[in-house]
Amino acid sequence: MISGKEALLEAMEISPAVAAFCQKQEASVRAKFDEIDEICEYNQWKVLDAFQKERVSDQHFETTSGYGYTDLGRDTLERVFARVFHTEDALVRPQIISGTHALAVAAFGLLRPGDEIVFAAGTPYDTMQGVVGIRPEKGNLTEFGVTYKIVPLGENGLPDIEALKKTIGPKTRVVEIQRSKGYDYRKTLSPREIGEIIRAAKEVKPDVIAFVDNCYGEFVQKIEPTDVGADIAVGSLIKNAGGGLAPIGGYIVGKKDLVELCAIRLTSPGLGKEAGATLGVTKSFYQGLFFAPTVTAAAVKTAVFAAAVFKALGYNVLPEPDEERCDIVEAITLNSEQAILSFCRGVQFAAPVDSFVTPIPWDMPGYGCPIIMAAGSFNSGASIELSADAPITPPYNVFFQGGLTYGHGKYGVMRAVQEMVKDRVLSIPE
Ligand SMILES: *Cc1c(COP(=O)(O)O)cnc(C)c1O
Repeated sequence: MISGKEALLEAMEISPAVAAFCQKQEASVRAKFDEIDEICEYNQWKVLDAFQKERVSDQHFETTSGYGYTDLGRDTLERVFARVFHTEDALVRPQIISGTHALAVAAFGLLRPGDEIVFAAGTPYDTMQGVVGIRPEKGNLTEFGVTYKIVPLGENGLPDIEALKKTIGPKTRVVEIQRSKGYDYRKTLSPREIGEIIRAAKEVKPDVIAFVDNCYGEFVQKIEPTDVGADIAVGSLIKNAGGGLAPIGGYIVGKKDLVELCAIRLTSPGLGKEAGATLGVTKSFYQGLFFAPTVTAAAVKTAVFAAAVFKALGYNVLPEPDEERCDIVEAITLNSEQAILSFCRGVQFAAPVDSFVTPIPWDMPGYGCPIIMAAGSFNSGASIELSADAPITPPYNVFFQGGLTYGHGKYGVMRAVQEMVKDRVLSIPE
């Protein structure tokens, strides 16, 4: 029988040296964990309040099939989301297959031929580049007569607000602000910073639509982009907002007329939000949203712990352990391909599912170079679950996120360190 933490960890392949080193770093971020717990509590109450105000009851967990007209559970869930995000309306559907799809639905829903979309925070996320036509995928927005402009980040790595103001012109209908970093080594934007960008954009053109890619950002802070002027915000339910329980889906929240345009694009003109069966997933959406603040907090703690450990090992990390958190992602510059492979192998070996699998880089659809992804998740590809991905290109940044529970996230970090030690890409300081 194994007794004691060290013995159990050793039986799980973590050496006493790695365990002791990591444990020591955790002590340095305890105050940060208290802050995360405080935000979590607030967001839990915010979600609970929305459930109560909408009188959620077990009849809302029933399912519909076929056209899915009059789906009470779906319609009530959308009102719950609208309350949580303080918006007029919401579209929350299993027919939205991913975050990219939610972004595409919103972009195609809002833009018309002759319109322009301006990206306020540099080049958008890889898959979004294909949607817009920055990378020429078939069926992209430019084929429909929509043009785009990208405002490069300023020298400080933050959005260049003066350049944005000069870029917005009479054709600009949408200003897109991507909150999270994607595969860029840049600061994630806080809702406060997003609010400043929106204010500047509306100064130049009051009727411009402020559109926020909120992927990975939900519930990390007490306010959301929709609290600071975003007209529409979009995210994935297999990231934060699904709480690890939603098996699929995306959400679009915002102004009523804009959400309607997105719904029309998702279903069809004349149908909009009225149709769309929920096929038994509704309860997991409700329960996932209920858990989302807690699960997000576990993921944020995991990211902070990873930052502390890898900074102490001498790596560049973004954000720093004590910096303000605006999403669940930790970027770590690992400096070599081998280090990336070892790190990702460790994250995979730490998983509850597919822990015996070795991840290898591949040419994933929608991305510009080979990508390695480590994820042993209950829902395929769900990156609210502990996962790491890295484009195989210098300076070899790995993007590490998720963790349904902190205990798992912490073990994942230790296992990643352990694999790197085993492969001699790092050694634990004395
Ligand atoms: C994950 C992500 C997306 C795309 O979401 P998928 O569900 O992977 O399609 C878009 N933007 C950002 C910033 C993301 O992090």
